[in-house]
Amino acid sequence: LGPTLCIGEILVEIVATMPGEGFRNALPLIGPFPSGAPAIFIDQCGRIGGQAAMIGAVGRDDFGQVNIDRLVRDGVDVSGIAIDPDYPTGSAFVRYREDGSRDFVFNIERSAAARFGWTPAVAALAARAGHLHVMGSALSISGAWEVIRQVLAQVKARGGTLSLDPNLRKELTQDVETRERFLWLVGQADLLLPSGEELEDAAGVAGEEAALAALFARGIKEIVLKRGEAGASCFLSDGRRIDAPSFVVDAVDPTGAGDCFGGAYLTCRRLGQPVESALDYGCAAGARNATLRGPMEGAGTREELDAFIATTQRRAS
Ligand code: ATP
Repeated sequence: LGPTLCIGEILVEIVATMPGEGFRNALPLIGPFPSGAPAIFIDQCGRIGGQAAMIGAVGRDDFGQVNIDRLVRDGVDVSGIAIDPDYPTGSAFVRYREDGSRDFVFNIERSAAARFGWTPAVAALAARAGHLHVMGSALSISGAWEVIRQVLAQVKARGGTLSLDPNLRKELTQDVETRERFLWLVGQADLLLPSGEELEDAAGVAGEEAALAALFARGIKEIVLKRGEAGASCFLSDGRRIDAPSFVVDAVDPTGAGDCFGGAYLTCRRLGQPVESALDYGCAAGARNATLRGPMEGAGTREELDAFIATTQRRAS
């Protein structure tokens, strides 16, 4: 059916190892790690054995190379990643607070990550992709938006599908235009992967049940709600609901868990696995990734996730 494409920011990430309010308390810092929610997602797609390709841009620098090397290692087609000769690879800094919440500092706007557009390489990928995945964090990048729209039109014309992870980040632009783009995509999506308040936000309706009904009325077929330590739930437009418990792990760095969950879940579904099994792999991918510092360091191969599932206890529901 053609590869899964993901379009958006490719970053390096610096990670604080101690919880704290400012830089000083958060020391020591570690990284830079390959990152960017779309890049983490597609890396997990490739690593678990799906056909996957990334569209975005990095600078002509070591940080860009770190990302390209990782994606290539994990089987992702990087022909759609432009190398910007003038701007550096984008970056992010994440630190955790004592209550488990986190703060990001992003450097996307003035980096290569925000400066890409339609190229012959992108056109070649658009011509054969079977699925597009979009992260909400990419929607404030205007160049990305043009590419997303054109790729989506081609994918849909061929009978392909769209998945959308709202991935709301309070630190990224949420202006009217970004919001409009997001709501338009909600109406195009086949699979929605929200977490927490993103479900009701995407529906524009309060209450889980009402939000689900509103989203199904807009044509979405499958909604997978990520619940962190509480696992995940899949709601299907035919009324079925399938719950999956999470795995018991010592989570040291939960950033990227949702992206790994999504990459594993989507790939399993595209490979024809039933929801129950895709949820299991998604939860395993998210939990495993949370056990290692760095946003995509724990993305698992099929064998690694099978071993993780066989040896890790599930949380009692
Ligand atoms: P992020 O934005 O940080 O990438 P998210 O909010 O989109 O994450 P989460 O619900 O945090 O997504 O994580 C996705 C999945 O990963 C969960 O459904 C769960 O299965 C697994 N997971 C995440 N955190 C943990 C944890 N602390 N323990 C066990 N499993 C976890």
